[in-house]
Amino acid sequence: MAPLKFRRGSPWSKIDRVRDQDLVIVGGGIAGGALATVMARAGATVLLLERQLAYRDHVRGEILWPWGVRVARVLGIEQVLLEGGGRLLRWLHTYDEGVPSPTKDDIGAILDGIDGSLNISHPIACEALVTAATSAGAEIRRGVRDVNVTPAAQPVVRWVDGDGTQRETRCNLIVGADGRRSTVRSQAGIAFQVDRPAHLIAGMLAEGIAGIDTVNVIARESDLLFFAFPQGGGRARLYLCFPAHEQTRFAGHDGPRRFLRECALSCLEGVAQWDTARVAGPCATFPGEDSRAPHPLADGVVLVGDAAGYENPLEGQGLSMALQDVHDVSVALLSRSSTSNDLGTYAVNRIRRQTRKFRSSAPGLGQRRVRSPGPCGARGSLRPHPRRPRACCS
Ligand SMILES: Cc1cc2nc3c(=O)[nH]c(=O)nc-3n(C[C@H](O)[C@H](O)[C@H](O)COP(=O)(O)OP(=O)(O)OC[C@H]3O[C@@H](n4cnc5c(N)ncnc54)[C@H](O)[C@@H]3O)c2cc1C
Repeated sequence: MAPLKFRRGSPWSKIDRVRDQDLVIVGGGIAGGALATVMARAGATVLLLERQLAYRDHVRGEILWPWGVRVARVLGIEQVLLEGGGRLLRWLHTYDEGVPSPTKDDIGAILDGIDGSLNISHPIACEALVTAATSAGAEIRRGVRDVNVTPAAQPVVRWVDGDGTQRETRCNLIVGADGRRSTVRSQAGIAFQVDRPAHLIAGMLAEGIAGIDTVNVIARESDLLFFAFPQGGGRARLYLCFPAHEQTRFAGHDGPRRFLRECALSCLEGVAQWDTARVAGPCATFPGEDSRAPHPLADGVVLVGDAAGYENPLEGQGLSMALQDVHDVSVALLSRSSTSNDLGTYAVNRIRRQTRKFRSSAPGLGQRRVRSPGPCGARGSLRPHPRRPRACCS
């Protein structure tokens, strides 16, 4: 396409026009990196815009439960994650202060051919996926800011590159994969509903925990629900769920150390050595809430992953949901029938998937059986709740 001619002096005359693309993906997290890989491998021209120059720990999901591992395999990215540093873990042990011994669940037996959960650091997983996308021919621009999208039949994306140059391109479709606080979503005018949080959840990466490496752990004690998802070498992603009114429980500069101290639950005595544990990343607190875009589409725009709706982190389904979105959207884009109809089907199926309760493969305490997640009854009506707790999160 010939470059647009701008009036001399027009603010847009300084904008550098980048070649048109099939897809522009905003956000290079799990959803964006996976979709860029799948679509570039299929021969589409893909431009991915990521605001981080280097991926940092923002306290996100680091365990893919068996159904998500299966979706990753179908997408052809399971190996990318394993070679990037992911580990398969076969066991989930559940402890309770009122119960003398843990329940031991073999999550490697849930799905044929899937040997357990896939545990991987989030920044490492994102890096592995954008590297795979680059190898497949996608163009990745990191350190971008001020991304601005204009929905239309041929939508336009403008952004500022890391060197300060303003750029723009047209494409056939913009994919908003920019996470829970998606700006593509708001710029495209897509409505979003957030439920009242049931509790708060704080997460932190810790290292030097002897004995933690081989099993996923859930425990309940006093007012806490605890999760440990090991990454090898004594490192584990730890989460604590606690009452919704305690927003400052792990706030402040001493918050990470208080978090570690509270992780040393009595019911976990002998399971792991907490006295050697060290803080290995930021400690962030999030509302335990569900959210959704009832219709994650606009003219020339589709949302995937958390941008389209995120689950209460306690359910541990966000990474798998994001990969299922990548699957459904890529199938829609690569099918020979009408893409807009197929994206419409994605939108309907996504909201159905989200509003059915998952029988999570990371069951809460009290649910003793572990099985592959599937629909199990409808959730209540969609009720937006504008009030949000002031928790430290991004
Ligand atoms: C505390 C917590 C615990 C969780 N635990 C689990 C778990 O155990 N298992 C599980 O499956 N899921 C879990 N999740 C959910 C999971 O982390 C998310 O569902 C998943 O990361 C969503 O992927 P995403 O690619 O949609 O978003 P993200 O992973 O958030 O990626 C979004 C990307 O977009 C980039 N970006 C944002 N804005 C812009 C912009 N304007 N321009 C350019 N780039 C932008 C960001 O830098 C980031 O790289 C948890 C979430 C939280 C908060």
